[in-house]
Amino acid sequence: MATKNITVVGAGLVGSLLSIYLAKKGHIVNVYERRPDMRSAAIPAGRSINLALSDRGWRGLEGAGIGDAIRAIAIPMSGRMMHGVDGTLNYQPYGKEGQAINSVSRRILNMTLMDCAEQYPNITLHFNHRATDCDIDAPWVAFENTHTGEQSRVESDIIIGSDGAFSAIRERMQKTDRYNFSQDYLEHAYKELTIPPADDGGFRMEKNALHIWARKSFMMIALPNTDGSFTCTLFFPYKGEVSFEQLRTEDDVRVFFNEYFPDAVPMMPTLIEDFFGNPTSSLVTMRAFPWVYGNTAALIGDAAHAIVPFYGQGMNCGFEDCVVMSDCIDASGGDWTAAFANYERNRKPNGDAIAQLALDNFIEMRDKVADPDFLLRKKIEAKLHAEYPRSFTPLYTLVTFSPDVPYSEALRRGRENDTLMDAILAIPGVHDRWDDEDVRSAVQSFVQ
Ligand SMILES: Cc1cc2nc3c(=O)[nH]c(=O)nc-3n(C[C@H](O)[C@H](O)[C@H](O)COP(=O)(O)OP(=O)(O)OC[C@H]3O[C@@H](n4cnc5c(N)ncnc54)[C@H](O)[C@@H]3O)c2cc1C
Repeated sequence: MATKNITVVGAGLVGSLLSIYLAKKGHIVNVYERRPDMRSAAIPAGRSINLALSDRGWRGLEGAGIGDAIRAIAIPMSGRMMHGVDGTLNYQPYGKEGQAINSVSRRILNMTLMDCAEQYPNITLHFNHRATDCDIDAPWVAFENTHTGEQSRVESDIIIGSDGAFSAIRERMQKTDRYNFSQDYLEHAYKELTIPPADDGGFRMEKNALHIWARKSFMMIALPNTDGSFTCTLFFPYKGEVSFEQLRTEDDVRVFFNEYFPDAVPMMPTLIEDFFGNPTSSLVTMRAFPWVYGNTAALIGDAAHAIVPFYGQGMNCGFEDCVVMSDCIDASGGDWTAAFANYERNRKPNGDAIAQLALDNFIEMRDKVADPDFLLRKKIEAKLHAEYPRSFTPLYTLVTFSPDVPYSEALRRGRENDTLMDAILAIPGVHDRWDDEDVRSAVQSFVQ
């Protein structure tokens, strides 16, 4: 396959990983990142400082040969720990014994990906370079050096836009004929808060769980960090009776947290500083089409599909994009138009599906996970999966632990599951007589 000169715009999680896949094929890869090098500069965490990494993401990392480097810094979370208003704890495993999602520091992950990328002599990372314009026909990308203000124009064979939700490359593609684009903001925003390590350096709560304080119209979650701290994220409406706009004073914040998260407050000594010092950030779903332009340009990761974070899949989906793009390049025999078209054909329906699943899961996380009927449903789903693994797999397992199942298939099967579960839950006695003959045969009649 002929060597190509490839410009990758954005050295975030997805751009850094993709550059490794491209370099392994022998291409010359120049990655341009608008921020300074985070390995030597202190950069404020723009977005969540830790992320849930699951099987699709691991597949992307393993494919680039860097799974072990990341495993060393990942904390497995094998279930959700639900925190009631009265302080009661309820643990719900995410999957079967041994299955877990993993809390990973965004920064360490990104830095590790950059380190791994730089080991390839055919990858060059250029920091402080902000893409300001591009021509996807020529193709070239114009950059501004964010330190010196110097302008430059870089020509190459191919441009990859991995420059996130507000992609400059996508913005240029939007100016082509019949380009579809939509952005939908949630009425909820998020704010990060901290639970520091205990005095002895240990964790103040169960380490191997994702903690959730579900409060119907809003929620707080917490993921563990390797230093013993937890990063909490409050997902909360911008406006309304109970909302960010109502929490104006320190007292407002104290009263609100004591009312809704009383068990967390004693573990959050910097609550007030964090609340007023950290930004309130918005949450958006962005859908775009097409993602590719002939054989000269393609979008990947959030640039192609920014989604809300409630399934913990945005990055995982972006890593899966890298695997699929790599496979499509390999299968195309050097025909980049075909490679990009196949990549887009494969990924667009899956990007749309995970965007929908992520929106749906917000309702589940904040509203249903604490509901006894919902918990019963989940218990029966787990029993069904254990007894009929070929016929029934819970949606969460399909999305999180089944990288061979595309997101679009997970969405379809999840909807079938709902119909099936409605029928099973209507069987008299299904809750407490699971092992009785009549219940078993009724269940079997639906499952097979
Ligand atoms: C609160 C929150 C929690 C999340 N939790 C999870 C989770 O648990 N699990 C999960 O899988 N995903 C999660 N996500 C989603 C995840 O953060 C994104 O999907 C992921 O970061 C996408 O990676 P990316 O490389 O495509 O984009 P980004 O991470 O946005 O990287 C884009 C890069 O491009 C650079 N850039 C932007 N514009 C330019 C320009 N003009 N020129 C040059 N460089 C540019 C940026 O500086 C950045 O480095 C979460 C998101 C949020 C907001």
